[in-house]
Amino acid sequence: MSEDTLFAKMASGEIPSDEVYSDEEYYAFRDINPQAPTHVLIIPRKPIPKISDAEDGDRALLGGLVLKATEIARREGLEDDGYRLVINCGKQGGQTVYHLHLHILGGRQMNWPPG
Ligand code: AMP
Repeated sequence: MSEDTLFAKMASGEIPSDEVYSDEEYYAFRDINPQAPTHVLIIPRKPIPKISDAEDGDRALLGGLVLKATEIARREGLEDDGYRLVINCGKQGGQTVYHLHLHILGGRQMNWPPG
């Protein structure tokens, strides 16, 4: 049986998802329970469980993840009004899926502090 995370299975096509972007390093898809009019998740295909598990060797991958998120946000038409990028880490950070992912949220006014 595969030990891939839910998100890795979505990236490999084993489980269907609403794809937004795909390349050799990253996969992006629409969140199943959107918290904003636009809610996209982007993952590195490399299965890093959480951001605190990232290592110095992941520097380029993480930089690329953020840049790719800005590219997707631009393509989703979020650039003019702005948007929010979020990474939840661990239990108190609100992380529920342990495959590193970055949330792209936009299309409404965001509040601060977050819940
Ligand atoms: P986090 O709480 O940061 O770990 O975020 C996990 C996100 O994954 C949540 O916003 C969920 O709505 C989303 N999610 C969980 N299962 C799926 C799925 N099958 N397809 C798309 N998004 C999902």
